[in-house]
Amino acid sequence: MYDWTVPTFLVADAVFRQHKPPGEHPERPERLVAIEQALAAAGLVGRCERLPVRPATRQEVLRVHTQDHYHHLEQLLRSGYGWLDPDTYYGPGSWEAALCAAGAAVDLALRLGQGSGNGLALLRPPGHHATRDRAMGFCLFNNIAIGAAAARAAGARVAIVDFDVHHGNGTEEIFASDPDVLFVSTHQHPLYPGTGEAAFVGVGLGRGATVNIPLPQGSDDAVYRRCFERVVIPALLRFAPDLILVSAGFDGHRRDPLAGMALTEQGYADLTAMLLGVQPRLGMLLEGGYHLESLAASVVAVLEVLLGDRCLRPARQVTGAELAPEAEAAIALARRLHGL
Ligand SMILES: [Zn+2]
Repeated sequence: MYDWTVPTFLVADAVFRQHKPPGEHPERPERLVAIEQALAAAGLVGRCERLPVRPATRQEVLRVHTQDHYHHLEQLLRSGYGWLDPDTYYGPGSWEAALCAAGAAVDLALRLGQGSGNGLALLRPPGHHATRDRAMGFCLFNNIAIGAAAARAAGARVAIVDFDVHHGNGTEEIFASDPDVLFVSTHQHPLYPGTGEAAFVGVGLGRGATVNIPLPQGSDDAVYRRCFERVVIPALLRFAPDLILVSAGFDGHRRDPLAGMALTEQGYADLTAMLLGVQPRLGMLLEGGYHLESLAASVVAVLEVLLGDRCLRPARQVTGAELAPEAEAAIALARRLHGL
């Protein structure tokens, strides 16, 4: 039986709202305002243990990023508003927010890796597109990679599950040759950033430790559930991590304006419950999710699972038992490529 007396850590801080776009942009501070209001309304905040926020040290960031990337951002982000690429902005509050998002990822990963409990970190800017040497896709530093690298340096065996609707290309690149960090990603394909083919399974010693499951547009709770049952969960059980970190993007929600998947908030709760069943030391880090109401409802649902209020839905209640042939094929391919 799972021990529900373990703490649930929550990272939520005003510093993450100080990363502000120069104009209209989907990745905006209002995302966190909507989430925090919904969590408070649901009465969940007081039941979590708040983790204080602090900037990551240079050394923590340099475990995964190049010196050039660090220095480039340090100089640029203090200069006002601007753009790192056509999608990725910065503003006067971005440097501190980016460092604190990385620092919070480290602290949550270490706290869970060394003890017990689960947690949710409401971070901005998001991180999973940031590569070793480049900011892209709204991401400046790769928060989850920095957190995973800290836990790994402390001796933990870490698995990263990325259910954001976009492929976590930065995280994949950073750990592609590392056999001790498992990276598992479900993503709509084709879609930004265009990476994440199933055939890419890692390089060198890391071959097999990257599991990509590109899914067709329109994939719903039933597809994701089958995908987790047949690929994600067996891959995690085989790897046997001490800690699971999740790139928790909620842009696969059926109402999200940036993508075309059909997940519901209950679907996200189910995925979380399944991961918790593999490893109770589960840390979820916010990535995308751009429909404010659906984002907030999904985060509430996930936190309810972490707190033990909500369980996995019985399989018969998940609609769409007959999966689209493209979805069946994607799941079968990932199973075959990884011997699952
Ligand atoms: Zn995304």
